[in-house]
Amino acid sequence: MKAMRFHQHGGPEVLRFEEAPTPTPGPGEVLVALRAAALNHLDLFVREGIPGVSLPHIGGADGAGVIATAGPGSGRYPVGTRVFFDPGISDGTCAFCQRGEHSLCDQYQLLGENRDGTFAQAVVIPEVNCRPIPEAFSFQEAAAFPLVFLTAWRLLMTKARVQPGETVLILGIGGGVAQAALQLAKLAGATVFVTSGDPEKLARGRAMGADAVIDHATTDFSREVWSLTGKRGVNVVVDSVGAATWERSIRSLGKGGRLVVPGATSGPKAEVDLRRVFNRQVTIYGSTMGSRTDWDQLVTLAREGKLHPVIDRSFPLEAAAQAQARLASGAQFGKVVLDIPPL
Ligand SMILES: [Zn+2]
Repeated sequence: MKAMRFHQHGGPEVLRFEEAPTPTPGPGEVLVALRAAALNHLDLFVREGIPGVSLPHIGGADGAGVIATAGPGSGRYPVGTRVFFDPGISDGTCAFCQRGEHSLCDQYQLLGENRDGTFAQAVVIPEVNCRPIPEAFSFQEAAAFPLVFLTAWRLLMTKARVQPGETVLILGIGGGVAQAALQLAKLAGATVFVTSGDPEKLARGRAMGADAVIDHATTDFSREVWSLTGKRGVNVVVDSVGAATWERSIRSLGKGGRLVVPGATSGPKAEVDLRRVFNRQVTIYGSTMGSRTDWDQLVTLAREGKLHPVIDRSFPLEAAAQAQARLASGAQFGKVVLDIPPL
């Protein structure tokens, strides 16, 4: 099969579009012939070099395609079924899995990080991770859905438990997790404020249903939040920016507020005035990926037509370096996706 691989860590120039062995599904696994993949910041970190990546490596957590081959003991979905999948792989047997906390699994692996991923014509994945693609979704939309919606769902719904009438602030509305969070928070009945440094992205955020938009390039967003909420602060902040924004995110929270942390794209070391944390009784939720229950709840909502992944732009698989450069530039609004030729 054709794959976009790298043999050493580095910038986009290390990516090579080349022939790679087509993997064989083991027990409980399936081979999915991919038709689209979607990019995440994780792919950039993996390419640049993080521990636990064996070389040569195929990146990519998100993908969608059709079942091509079923491994021993698989066969829940017939060959040819259009599927997408939860990219998080758990053993199903450890104490965390038994409690239904699959993303805390002792043996947890992520597609495209700890094993070969979706930037290829095919990928092997446990059948239990797969679900049929909602009829209304294209392959591109299906590929753009899992990682960001799963991350946002778990943080907002499973952890922070956003309630109708609450206020939610989402930083950086150009990003995939932020857009998923906006859709989920509106669905939960919350009032949602979004930020961006780009007026066009703010306009699109408003068109997606944001109740107020804040230009974080020209204003201190925490002051804006204070005036928008009559000096009460918001109930929930979604901050995947990290170092550059944490302090203002904590300042934006009202009493009993919750800060949810899906990532830290600007850097992982943040400074916090802990007095704000205990005086205002703030809770900080970190999370990565989700459980099988989270995944099933999300797929149901997608099937009901309530969630819509936003596609920024698509590139052919062989132009993955350009696609990754677009993601790294921060210019995108929504998911950058790759079109993959049939196996
Ligand atoms: Zn486990």
